[in-house]
Amino acid sequence: MPDIDSSIDTGSAPASEALFARAQAVTPGGVNSPVRAFNAVGGTPRFIASAEGAWLTDVDGNRYVDLICSWGPMLLGHRHPEVEAAVTAAIQRGTSYGTPTTPEVELAEEIVGRTPVDEVRFVSSGTEATMSAIRLARGFTGRDVIIKFAGCYHGHVDSLLASAGSGLVTFAVPGTPGVPASSTELTLVLPYNDTTALEAAFAEHGPRIAAVITEAGPGNMGVVPPAPGFNQLISTLCAKHGALFISDEVMTGFRATRDGHWGLDGKVEGWRPDLITFGKVMGGGFPAAAFGGRADVMRTLSPVGPVYQAGTLSGNPVATTAGLTTLRLATEEVYGHIARAADVVKQAASGALDAAGVAHQVQSTGTMFSIFLTEAPVTNFDEAKTTDETAYKAFFHSMLADGVYLPPSAYEVWFLSAAHDDEALDHIVNALPKAARAAAAVQR
Ligand SMILES: *Cc1c(COP(=O)(O)O)cnc(C)c1O
Repeated sequence: MPDIDSSIDTGSAPASEALFARAQAVTPGGVNSPVRAFNAVGGTPRFIASAEGAWLTDVDGNRYVDLICSWGPMLLGHRHPEVEAAVTAAIQRGTSYGTPTTPEVELAEEIVGRTPVDEVRFVSSGTEATMSAIRLARGFTGRDVIIKFAGCYHGHVDSLLASAGSGLVTFAVPGTPGVPASSTELTLVLPYNDTTALEAAFAEHGPRIAAVITEAGPGNMGVVPPAPGFNQLISTLCAKHGALFISDEVMTGFRATRDGHWGLDGKVEGWRPDLITFGKVMGGGFPAAAFGGRADVMRTLSPVGPVYQAGTLSGNPVATTAGLTTLRLATEEVYGHIARAADVVKQAASGALDAAGVAHQVQSTGTMFSIFLTEAPVTNFDEAKTTDETAYKAFFHSMLADGVYLPPSAYEVWFLSAAHDDEALDHIVNALPKAARAAAAVQR
């Protein structure tokens, strides 16, 4: 049997290849975050030299329509003139003081005005946001146990890099070397969308549960929408048992809808999470994230309350200016445009895969979507893993060769922006039939 993967042409990019060789000598795997490395698809990651609107240009001079959008943040596209002007002006005033500044207050007011949180605290990454929210939930409730769901990613927090234990409601084991068993022995990992498991966990451990953390609408195993009522059940069970509901909107916040994922369920059904974590879009392309929620919970944070949390560059004035300008420009029209662009890509991709005979599922939550190359709808992580990774590799590299930079993993959202205009969409649509045929060819 020929090696199926070696039949996939991963292209040639001499300048990127030379930089990648240098990078691998000085940085583990040549990248500063693993998914950038192309381990899942093979070949060499393209080193991007510049970007404009919906387009990336690599160091070899190749142009690509960007379907990564920095993994979500670039809601308005690259180099939006007003964001660029505001950031440039901010830099010319000074870049960091370690004192309070005006844009922090304005960004906090914007977030409080748009989401169901009373107060927010800024940090510099989504990981910091979820880590801090968990500490706060434990400090507020005086309890230790955390529930998370398999396939939901909340950053590289020790207690959340956990895999399910052997039984349905037994405690977790470390998901990576370097995490001590003591860091995950208070974490319960449940199958996503499984109401029976969730109810059983509360029945067995209720008085010890500090919080349930979930992606508001999971995107980190590909898009797996919550079943109708699932987030509401989390909210109800947490309230009943005195635990806090932490909704991780680092990806979905200001992205799935103008009101985040909450705009799709909680706002309609009349509940709100106790704590919400934000990141990605709210930083406008800079390192900024936040956690926020109920005033009584937030006020147990230092310096008002006893729960310690801090950060040297938290609320940095350049980053908060980028985020503030981005959110002010993120009107309903922006979300309407992205939703329509998503429909164009989804329909074209589905049509091309159908024509090539490749089984697939287009899954969406708000304006976010991803495509699983599998036979049946995906409702949890085990089902997500049935996607045909080899077919995705062939699909990915055909798209890349034709100037479309998809996420280099079969389990990621295809991110669009307000800058994805007809020219960019046509470019994607035109590349899809060949990519679908390439996927079909490795399936046979
Ligand atoms: C990206 C992400 C994080 C982690 O954010 P970083 O800024 O990469 O640390 C946490 N939660 C969710 C849902 C995310 O998508």
